[in-house]
Amino acid sequence: MPELPEVETIANGVHQRIHGQTIRSVWTSNKPQTFKSPPDEIIELLTGSRVERVHRVGKTIVVDLARRGKFSQFLVHLGMTGRLLVSTPDTPVPPHTHAILTLSSGKELRFVDARRFGRLSVAEPGTKYEGPGAEPLTIPLEDFIALFRNRKTPVKAALLNQSLLHGVGNIYADEALFHAGIRPTRHAGRLSRAELSRLHTALMKVLTEAIKLGGSSVSDYVDADGVAGFFQLHHHVYSRTSEPCRICGTPIKRIVIGGRSTHYCPTCQR
Ligand SMILES: [Zn+2]
Repeated sequence: MPELPEVETIANGVHQRIHGQTIRSVWTSNKPQTFKSPPDEIIELLTGSRVERVHRVGKTIVVDLARRGKFSQFLVHLGMTGRLLVSTPDTPVPPHTHAILTLSSGKELRFVDARRFGRLSVAEPGTKYEGPGAEPLTIPLEDFIALFRNRKTPVKAALLNQSLLHGVGNIYADEALFHAGIRPTRHAGRLSRAELSRLHTALMKVLTEAIKLGGSSVSDYVDADGVAGFFQLHHHVYSRTSEPCRICGTPIKRIVIGGRSTHYCPTCQR
């Protein structure tokens, strides 16, 4: 499942390839699961619109559109297996393609999704999509601290709560807690100011580093002839159960919090 850095990488890559172009026509598969807004509504809003900007909000790819001075937004949630591909029309259309936007350059933006957990929609007219929670890359420290106040859940569960911070997934929650030296089972509301400050810094650091790493491999995700699959980070704890901690050598432990597998170093994280 793509997390915030992967979604940002894809949004930036698509932006570079299609911004400034006009959407000439739209084809949809009409598969009911894929479309959170009625396909007819999407087709009506997109056709003839100019792509002003493609960016990320939480884990959603947001395409800002303008047509005759009117602003609208096309929203793409990749789900588990969703992909956005910028293709030439002569590239064979892959199986499980659910939408094709034909652009003024002649290229096509295709949405491909084998498992169909991805969602396509348009924002409510006259509104800007803001997502459910705060943005982890820009939230000021005081607001970050306030999110955790009086919370009785484990800090790991609070980090994954999309209505608090949107876009933080399992990998980066585990990695941020490792870098902050905080055990994932700790009660969120009992963390000290200093600990929350370390967590704030650590979260931004792991997300920013992953985005930097993704930037160099963006064509793997958005160019139609590219290789599928996301970049592999040099994780410290995530998915390293029983392997030695990179700092102290203690075997990494795996537990389950809120139904999600959680990895930590029992020595480095207190
Ligand atoms: Zn350690």
